[in-house]
Amino acid sequence: MTASNGKRYGMAVDTRRCVGCSGCVIACKTENALPEGGFRDWVVQETWGAFPQLAMQIRSERCNHCSNAPCVTACPTGASHVAEGGVVLVDAAKCTGCKACIASCPYGARWVHPGGHVDKCTFCLHRVQKGQDPACVSNCPTRALTFGDLADPESRVSALLRQRRHEVVKPEAGTSPNVFFLV
Ligand code: SF4
Ligand code: SF4
Ligand code: SF4
Repeated sequence: MTASNGKRYGMAVDTRRCVGCSGCVIACKTENALPEGGFRDWVVQETWGAFPQLAMQIRSERCNHCSNAPCVTACPTGASHVAEGGVVLVDAAKCTGCKACIASCPYGARWVHPGGHVDKCTFCLHRVQKGQDPACVSNCPTRALTFGDLADPESRVSALLRQRRHEVVKPEAGTSPNVFFLV
C-alpha cells in the first residue's frame, strides 16, 4: 500500500546508537496523552550467543506501518486504514474494539485504549503534517531515530538505508515493514 500523496513514510532505528534510555517512550506518552499502562513504543534488549561470545542489541520498537498490513485486512469496520504516506491509522469512531487487528499483528503493536477503541503508533502524523519530526524522533538524546520519506531518494532516511546494513523484525511474517533497524 503506498501513499495517496506519493510519499512512503518510514523510520530507521540505529541499533548502534540506541542506549535504551526510554526517552522515546516518555516523549510519545506525553505527546499523545496516552493513558496509564498504554504505550505506542517500547524498548527491546536482545542478547545472542553463549558466554564469552555474546552479542547484544538495544532497539526502540513501534508499529511498523507495514505496506502489507494484516491489521487493515482483518479489521471488519474499516477503522484500521492506510492514510497519507502509507501510515496505518485507527479511526477511533469506527473502531468497535473487536480486537481482530490485535490478533493479526505479529508485532504486538496494538492495545485497547480505556476509551474502548484500539490504539497504536500514528507516526505522529499530526506533527509530520506540520513539518515536524515525530515526538520520539525529536526527543531521542542519541539521535538513534530517523523519520522521513522512503520514496524520496534524497531524504536522510533513504540515504541511511543505502549506507547502512539494515533489517526488519520478523521478515518471515511477510508484512513489508517500513521501520528498519540499522545494524
Ligand atoms: Fe534508544 Fe533514543 Fe529511545 Fe533512548 S530515546 S531508548 S536512545 S531510541
Ligand atoms: Fe498493523 Fe502491526 Fe504492521 Fe502496525 S506493525 S501496520 S499494527 S500489522
Ligand atoms: Fe509515539 Fe509518534 Fe513515535 Fe509513534 S511516531 S512511537 S506515536 S512518538
